Amino acid sequence: MRSNGHYDVIVVGGGVIGASIAYELALTGAAVALIEKRQPASGASGAAGGMLAASSEHFAALELYELALQSRALYAQLSEQLHAQTGIDIGLRTEGFLLPLPRHHEMDWEHRQRRIAEAQAKGMKWWGNERLAIEEPYVRAEDGMIYNPAEPQLVPALLNEAYVAAFVGLGGTLHCDLEVIRLLRESDGRGRVNGVMTEHGIMYADQVVLASGLGTSRLLAAEGLRLPFLPVKGELMEIRTPLPWLHHTIYSDTIYMIPKHPHRIWIGATSKPGQHSTIVEAGAVVELLLRAQRYIPMLSKGELVRCWAGIRPGTPDELPYIGSIRELPGLWIAAGHYRNGILLSAGTAKLMTAAIMTGDDQLIPHAFRPERALYPLSAATNAYPYADAASVYMTEEA
Ligand SMILES: Cc1cc2nc3c(=O)[nH]c(=O)nc-3n(C[C@H](O)[C@H](O)[C@H](O)COP(=O)(O)OP(=O)(O)OC[C@H]3O[C@@H](n4cnc5c(N)ncnc54)[C@H](O)[C@@H]3O)c2cc1C
Repeated sequence: MRSNGHYDVIVVGGGVIGASIAYELALTGAAVALIEKRQPASGASGAAGGMLAASSEHFAALELYELALQSRALYAQLSEQLHAQTGIDIGLRTEGFLLPLPRHHEMDWEHRQRRIAEAQAKGMKWWGNERLAIEEPYVRAEDGMIYNPAEPQLVPALLNEAYVAAFVGLGGTLHCDLEVIRLLRESDGRGRVNGVMTEHGIMYADQVVLASGLGTSRLLAAEGLRLPFLPVKGELMEIRTPLPWLHHTIYSDTIYMIPKHPHRIWIGATSKPGQHSTIVEAGAVVELLLRAQRYIPMLSKGELVRCWAGIRPGTPDELPYIGSIRELPGLWIAAGHYRNGILLSAGTAKLMTAAIMTGDDQLIPHAFRPERALYPLSAATNAYPYADAASVYMTEEA
């Protein structure tokens, strides 16, 4: 905090996006407060699988793919840096991903060869059944798999915890169990955003960042603005195995299996648009296990340790909202990272910090502009092409 009791920046939301931005801002020497209404990683960030799947995922725009690649490249150094600053190991594993192709009878030979050649052109390898049997003896090798050495994975809750601990270590102020009720505006309540009103009082800052995931729409609605989100529930399960039955992440169209230390496999995830509840449906456990057993038949003999669910903060066009808002000078948004927020957190934090510290939001790709989907609450909702799909979910939160 500055001597006048004001912060340079207040970041609202202690998930990976808010925590990474707060950390990156604190590295510049800025006076930053991070406000979380529950605990860090209590939202989507604590529920994620932790894959940094920049080349395996499909992205809605080239700009997002590029951000994903840039972000993925930051984790090796970030992992060391956070460990040195906090002693927390974020569980980064670099064995790489195995990508099954549809079986021979599900995909014609030429199509299959083309997919393999495309993967090889991007630096991936084809592992036939013999190679797979050596590398992954517990994996059923029917038709070989593509091996991508470039994709890492980590433990999201540890990453979130490390961002927060490093931020506090740099002198940042952390407030947990404190909900931001609305934004503060200069003069008659219509001017520049200059702080936040919380359950327990007012806090001032030159800039405010909303990294509040699905809670972002509610804070904007209080300003008469509508920014649509699409919640997508996902369920995962963890199985403990007597020996390490998996070394590489298996990433297919219908299921992923991620090896975690020690002798654990995370299996995920369901995808249920529009659902807000974080209960795990019994059917999800059956579905995940059946799909996973196709690749690791022994899995049913493992110990079911836990199941959990989270809500991905999606947006109607599957692009995040990153940038400032002309109607609300002093306000920045970083939310809606849907199914790749763990991967994108490091890159988003760099982008946001550069833009906030220079005041130049042109540094952020145009495609991420929140204004593409922002409308006055009073305006006809069909001004935005995805309005019908999105409007139902606008102000609800996980
Ligand atoms: C099942 C599942 C699997 C996933 N797997 C992966 C994966 O493998 N790789 C990957 O990259 N991504 C994955 N994701 C996506 C990733 O988890 C999200 O994109 C990311 O966590 C979003 O981070 P966030 O900080 O924006 O949101 P959140 O983690 O939801 O954080 C927002 C925070 O803001 C707080 N908040 C809200 N309103 C207020 C308020 N008014 N005042 C104060 N605090 C407030 C909330 O309490 C919350 O803690 C997965 C997600 C799910 C659900």
